[in-house]
Amino acid sequence: MASELLTALGVVLVLMLASWAAIVWHYRHTIRRAWREPVLRHPVLVIESDDWSPGPPEHAERLQCIAARLGRRRDSTGRPAVMTLGLILTAPDGRAAREHPDAVPTIALDDPSAEPILKAIRGGIARRVFAPQLHGLAHYWPETLQQALKAAPRGSGLRPRRRAECVMQGPNQTADVAHGSAVLTEESPRERASHSGEGAANSAGASACGSGTAAANSLLHWLTAEDYPQTEALPPHLQTRWADTTTLPSRPLARAAIKAAAQEEVATYARILGTPPKVAVPPTFVWTREVEETWINAGVEAIITPDRRYTARDANGQPAAPEGPIGNGQPAAGSALYLVRDIYFEPGRGHTADAALAAVRRRFTLGRPALLETHRANFTGDEATFQRSLAELDRLLDWAGAALPDVRFMSCQELAAAYRRRDPTLVDRHAAARLRVTLRRLSGHGRLRKLAWATGLALPAMAAAWLLRVPETTMATNEVEGRA
Ligand SMILES: [Zn+2]
Repeated sequence: MASELLTALGVVLVLMLASWAAIVWHYRHTIRRAWREPVLRHPVLVIESDDWSPGPPEHAERLQCIAARLGRRRDSTGRPAVMTLGLILTAPDGRAAREHPDAVPTIALDDPSAEPILKAIRGGIARRVFAPQLHGLAHYWPETLQQALKAAPRGSGLRPRRRAECVMQGPNQTADVAHGSAVLTEESPRERASHSGEGAANSAGASACGSGTAAANSLLHWLTAEDYPQTEALPPHLQTRWADTTTLPSRPLARAAIKAAAQEEVATYARILGTPPKVAVPPTFVWTREVEETWINAGVEAIITPDRRYTARDANGQPAAPEGPIGNGQPAAGSALYLVRDIYFEPGRGHTADAALAAVRRRFTLGRPALLETHRANFTGDEATFQRSLAELDRLLDWAGAALPDVRFMSCQELAAAYRRRDPTLVDRHAAARLRVTLRRLSGHGRLRKLAWATGLALPAMAAAWLLRVPETTMATNEVEGRA
């Protein structure tokens, strides 16, 4: 009897161990990624702001206001708060387009008319409160935009008007072209994944006006109504730069065209900023390996991703054909690496400092940086939206400093450099700490967690986590009453 019981227990044990081995084998890539991703010793807050480009002088004033707010704060190392600026190096020239509507004339960021903005950007860089990043030479592929404009009947829709008769709307955006009050600039695949219902009513990204001709007329109005047409108002598929979205689903661009365009934008960035870009942010997070390699060959050291590389847009205009997943610090081509931006902070859309701070905390417990995505539209729109955005930015910086005394304000370039050299002041290299955080990261994987509990694998994992617990000196956070 006793031997039969032992045999049965032995069979159960063997089956249990076999199931554990099967789980580990099945999730080996997930486990390896979780282990290899560097573990940060301190909370890292990166505020990323995209789409800054030539624009009206008011934009320069807004930039100066932001710089002043950032400059009031220091982290525990004495570094001022910093906002990265994803720069679009040219903007459509509405004034010239009224005379030559067959093309999309542009103004460069170093054009005399854009001097106040460039001056504000340079001033912020000198004070270390702004960190420039390459977002693109344009927030569209010029030939695609021109093709879309050609669909309009000549001589129609070119009359400058102060108010749009119809406005263009993309899946995630509402844009009042005439007043430049778009509150969302580009949709993110990550947000799309978590809010899959958004944009269904206008999923092709065409004009809210409906027909192709009406869409083209709306485009003509967008191009000519204002001196600085804002690309945020374009349908998302037209904001995509690195795919041919003339028709949907998109088609790949020619390899030679990609290389020439990527080289041109790096050279233009170097001409305007005085140094080649070190960080690149693909517009609408649709890009290809060819784009990336050209950037990296020209000196780019970090690529910002939403944790996937979306390489196309599907028939509905949505980001498609993802490659990944991609983790923080994961090597790209050459010596470059990826950083993951996956937190939204768009006060113009109602995102609050409370929610952002909670997300910063969650990233920190997982040993990850918090890259917050925002856009210039939060700051360049109407006065009320600007003030609300500025107030939320203030709150976020104040609360982050109070709740996370050891928080580090960083630019992506600085973070990438720390990852690359495994900076011991920022990156924890102790095996016990890495294993503990790895287990925490894996516990967030829903299916793996369920299987671990169903088979009992969670028990030794929990025991390991308990044994590996270390004094959480650097992981300590202060509770801020009523927040996060
Ligand atoms: Zn953008």
